[in-house]
Amino acid sequence: MVKRYIDRYHPILYSCSMTIIDGRAVAQKIQDELKQEISQLSGRPPCLAVILVGDNGPSRIYVNRKTKACEEVGIKSIKRHLEASISEDKLLKEVEHFNVNPEVDGILVQLPLPDHINDSRVTRWINPEKDVDGFHPVNVGKMLIGETNGFFPCTPLGVKELIVRTGVEIQGKNIVIVGRSNIVGKPLAAMLLQRGQGIDATVTVAHRFTSDLKEITLGADILVVAIGVPNHISADMIKEGAVVIDVGINRIEDLARKSGSRLVGDVDFEKAKEKCSFITPVPGGVGPMTIAMLLKNTLKSYRQSVL
Ligand code: NAD
Repeated sequence: MVKRYIDRYHPILYSCSMTIIDGRAVAQKIQDELKQEISQLSGRPPCLAVILVGDNGPSRIYVNRKTKACEEVGIKSIKRHLEASISEDKLLKEVEHFNVNPEVDGILVQLPLPDHINDSRVTRWINPEKDVDGFHPVNVGKMLIGETNGFFPCTPLGVKELIVRTGVEIQGKNIVIVGRSNIVGKPLAAMLLQRGQGIDATVTVAHRFTSDLKEITLGADILVVAIGVPNHISADMIKEGAVVIDVGINRIEDLARKSGSRLVGDVDFEKAKEKCSFITPVPGGVGPMTIAMLLKNTLKSYRQSVL
């Protein structure tokens, strides 16, 4: 029987054999909680500054989603849309302006940036105390050594939250992460390896040069895939009863649709769902969680600076 996961405390969901984790519902629940928390703050609201450079279509969509989500929960957002031709130095000045503004809690520079700008230099220019994307080396370092006053990157933080909300114990589990990018695989591995209640997993990270991927994924109690290769993980690579979190977002041709395409993950969802205990769909799984975690990080920054 297939059920959609909405609330970890819902007893009926634990009596069925497989559950599709509804990332939209979980993200909405988190956003409702944030809205409630923010409504009780006195003084100025938390504030996120978002910088968009150029006219990259998907980036514009992401930025609009982020600012709309801010509005919904009561976070003020400031959007700076800059010309694609802006020089790196001028962009750094824009970042600096927000770095020193005491009324700005979070700063996000939407990536990718135009080719003439060095992403990594811009990321490092953001005040680490306002780096709600969690990409600054200071925050990456804090995450590695287990300090919790920094910011964890939003997508892996969302993945961890989804795993926790399944109610499946993480401690001592074999977790396999396929993909070792700096924004998903590597930080997620660092987070799940930490000591502490609800974490303490045994983590294996696989990547494009891993020699026998299937042998490794078959050992996973919890399998997270973030590679950007459509339907790459087939059902025979998944252990019976595993939790599967699919981070991949891939657009593939589908001539049966009016748009001529559709989104799929890195896991062959239709066959995999017959084998696992929990699985995230694409779209509607990890994606919505990324924004919810950005809002959470912004509120965290506000609390650390104002309260
Ligand atoms: P990336 O391209 O930076 O890294 C891909 C990783 O996958 C690399 O470590 C590579 O070694 C590994 N890889 C590639 N092919 C492989 C294979 N055949 N077998 C094993 N490993 C392989 O990717 P990324 O930025 O981490 O993104 C991965 C996917 O996640 C993409 O589809 C991206 O769109 C999606 N993504 C989604 C969100 C979200 O909010 N849901 C956020 C970030 C990324």
